[in-house]
Amino acid sequence: MSVDDQLNPEELRKILQGKYGSDVHVEVLSHPEIQGTGDAESAQSKRKDALEFNYKPSEIKGYLDRFVIRQDDAKKVLATAICDHYHHIQDTSEPEDLQDYKKQNIVLIGPTGVGKTYLIQNIARLIGVPFVKADATKYSETGYVGGDVEDLIRELVTQADGDVELAQYGIVYIDEIDKIAGGHHIGGRDVSGHGVQRGLLKLMEDTEVPLRSATDVAGQMQAFMELQSKGKTDQKTMNTRHILFIVSGAFNGLTEIIKKRTGFKQIGFTGEKGNKDKSIRETENRLLSMVRSSDLLEFGFEAELVGRLPVVVHCNTLDKNDLFKILKYSEGSLLRQYKRDFLSYNIDIYFTDEGMHALAAKAVDEQTGARGLMTVCEKVFREYKYILPDQPEVKEIVVTESLVKDPDPSLQKLLKSPQMYKHRVVEFQIRKFTDQFSEEHGIELRFTPEAVQCIAKNSAQAKEAVMTYCTTLFKDYQHGINLLQKAPSRDALEIDAAGVNDPGKAIEKWIRENYREGESPTQ
Ligand code: ADP
Repeated sequence: MSVDDQLNPEELRKILQGKYGSDVHVEVLSHPEIQGTGDAESAQSKRKDALEFNYKPSEIKGYLDRFVIRQDDAKKVLATAICDHYHHIQDTSEPEDLQDYKKQNIVLIGPTGVGKTYLIQNIARLIGVPFVKADATKYSETGYVGGDVEDLIRELVTQADGDVELAQYGIVYIDEIDKIAGGHHIGGRDVSGHGVQRGLLKLMEDTEVPLRSATDVAGQMQAFMELQSKGKTDQKTMNTRHILFIVSGAFNGLTEIIKKRTGFKQIGFTGEKGNKDKSIRETENRLLSMVRSSDLLEFGFEAELVGRLPVVVHCNTLDKNDLFKILKYSEGSLLRQYKRDFLSYNIDIYFTDEGMHALAAKAVDEQTGARGLMTVCEKVFREYKYILPDQPEVKEIVVTESLVKDPDPSLQKLLKSPQMYKHRVVEFQIRKFTDQFSEEHGIELRFTPEAVQCIAKNSAQAKEAVMTYCTTLFKDYQHGINLLQKAPSRDALEIDAAGVNDPGKAIEKWIRENYREGESPTQ
């Protein structure tokens, strides 16, 4: 069972904050929209949320910022298009209201692993509508080889737990759309791009899709039984009028088309190879930011399809620093998963900044964007995950640069001295406590090395996390600090071992020192 299953988010937040005193951002998802899909509760309240859509673009962007690093242009454009789309749905109760409305279907351009799907997933979760993703290459014109594009619509109903009305406000996301542009062949097979484009086009318009597929054997059996018993079949349909379509792909070669049209030259670079790569990346990003619908036509899409996709936006390639930020700051950071995984075996894992930089540097070499982080972490921690659950003496791991660079030798060292990270961890946790303390009280606490040892010993004896131990120890300091703050000379308090053993006495001493005898501080 995962920790999440046992505790509510607030409890989990307290535990993690107590345990993880490292310099890693540890936040527990507490946003109501991101705690799983729920079940019975959900369908009705989700439908209500979707229909009572009341967001502004800046709010959607703000929400996305918590999870998705960079991609600011894409976030703004998507947030605005989503608001337009759902506000419009609210305003249109009759189909004829839609006559002049141009649905804001979106083309999302960008290499793999840069957050295209992740953006849309998070939007769908925030606004509470079902979301379906598929690859365009899966479909064929006839629906016999791959699937039928209409399956996408039926899948929305499944995602909406059978709630057809909610499904009608869903989002369909089709990746690898660039592969069905004219002239593209996959594995020697023409994926019959034009046929699939036409199929999609039909869905993007106002069309009724049967909820039972012609190739669904069970569905057809049911229809047959209905026909036998009632003399007719109950064929239900679903309308695609309000479904938002988002298509995406890497669109290799598109930059050449834009370059030709705009005459844009490569951004200059000086010196090393790293700079050259950076300038190529910047040039690509700049070119893609100028993309127009006409470039998509030139790329091989049919004019009617391009016409139904008025919003075109691109996501940038992610560099090493972006990958570091994803690890450190994204609320969806993979590291949180690792923390939970190890916590299941009572092992605390801490990630130092230099360790995260090293993971990001390795991941960049994979050239798969943020997906590279998954590959790299899996490789680095593979043996740790297998071996450490059988080593109860190992209670903590600190992920340093050398651990990332040489995971196996570092693991051997840890097995030889299971307590090797203990002191470092106590230091991390104390720093976290002092940071929090100075933020809350506006005064810095400093611990002498003896005080640190004393905290380590006392908290271990009390079987408490350092953070919890320190918080309890100094919980009554507020009043004394109020008095001290009135004295001009104090902006830091140094605590020695005696101070740890009797914090009340320590603060009394400072107060006495700060006020001359006979002069009482004003309250
Ligand atoms: P694609 O661009 O190919 O659709 P995804 O959005 O599926 O890539 O990204 C794969 C995973 O990588 C996501 O689930 C997310 O965890 C992570 N990721 C990708 N880009 C970002 C980003 N910009 N910020 C934070 N996490 C990201």
